[in-house]
Amino acid sequence: MSSHFETQAIRNQMERSQYLEYSTPLHLTSSFVFEDAEDMRASFAEEKQRNIYSRFSNPNTTEFVQKVIQMEGAEEGVAFASGMGAVFATFATFLNAGDHIVSARALFGSTHTLFTKYFPKWDIHSSYFPVDDLSLLEALIQPNTKCIYVESPTNPGVDILDLEVLGKIAKKHQLLFIVDNCFATPYLQQPIQYGADLVIHSATKLMDGQGRVLGGVTVGKKDLIRELFLFARNTGASLSPFNAWVLSKSLETLAVRIDRHCENALAIADKLEASQEINWVKYPFLKSHPQYALAKKQMMKGGNIVAFEVKGGLEAGRNFINAIRLCSLSSNLGDSRSIITHPASTTHSKLSEEDRLAVGITDGMIRLSVGLEHHEDIWNDLKNALSNLG
Ligand SMILES: *Cc1c(COP(=O)(O)O)cnc(C)c1O
Repeated sequence: MSSHFETQAIRNQMERSQYLEYSTPLHLTSSFVFEDAEDMRASFAEEKQRNIYSRFSNPNTTEFVQKVIQMEGAEEGVAFASGMGAVFATFATFLNAGDHIVSARALFGSTHTLFTKYFPKWDIHSSYFPVDDLSLLEALIQPNTKCIYVESPTNPGVDILDLEVLGKIAKKHQLLFIVDNCFATPYLQQPIQYGADLVIHSATKLMDGQGRVLGGVTVGKKDLIRELFLFARNTGASLSPFNAWVLSKSLETLAVRIDRHCENALAIADKLEASQEINWVKYPFLKSHPQYALAKKQMMKGGNIVAFEVKGGLEAGRNFINAIRLCSLSSNLGDSRSIITHPASTTHSKLSEEDRLAVGITDGMIRLSVGLEHHEDIWNDLKNALSNLG
């Protein structure tokens, strides 16, 4: 019986134990016991699907992963200790020395560091295409290219990449198409519909949505996930049962939270656009967004990240941040609390100025992760800070 997104997120629970608990219990156990020698043998031979050791699987991590699999329309999945655990394990599983990655230029900071600082140690190199011109992508594909990697919407510039076009290019060249879907969540966008082979999430962000735990997950095709699972269980970046328990409960409210995040973000983006103190504002569901039509096509709503630039450069940016009273100053995002970040001096400070500007991170750029407070209160905070640019 197929039911709706919200219903599955709430009702897709692990089997009840002998105690008939109402809410999913937490299974804090490092390992599991066997009935007898035959049970032990058959379990290790994988003749039966069961939990052996919590680095491999645990009922709580399984429940969490099962929910994400359903939400993304995937076949299988693996959970990780963090989003970066998922990103690293996914590349480490499928790439060999000498392989090449073609990636959108705008990347989460640590993923960029992975590509530029660590992968070259293993002779894995990457080429970047600009987010606003996919026509340049095919020219970057080499005989040793293994995958196309993107995030959409991008961080922190909220650009939108055409997943359908990317999926077709990946298929044509027989490349793995890997999407970090963290900013959209599966509620707003399901990359597998457009041909993604693997979809990665930092569950730390909107999936938890309340700033409590770290987690990551990769879902996708069965044969690929099998390989990833073997890598993951031998390398150890496993999601803890406690974090999985928190995350699984969080997913029950994902749809209602994202609905409100998006409503609030659109209201704030509208008001910013009408403000005299900013140079520009970017939000996927604002008509002024360069990829507005594409955003409408592949996303159900615009997400919760709004980017804008205050007038007056670095100094004004700092004055703005210092005048903020309600919103949190933090590098996190996707939380019930609204969060303000200054990417040039924090999350993307390791990039050269040239690399920063290439992905639209100017000195005065502010990234706002719109939370679940009343949107009038968020706006009053921003309005007050905007009147204090100095
Ligand atoms: C935060 C984030 C990550 C990394 O996730 P962690 O849970 O912090 O390790 C990866 N990709 C994107 C787009 C992110 O926002």
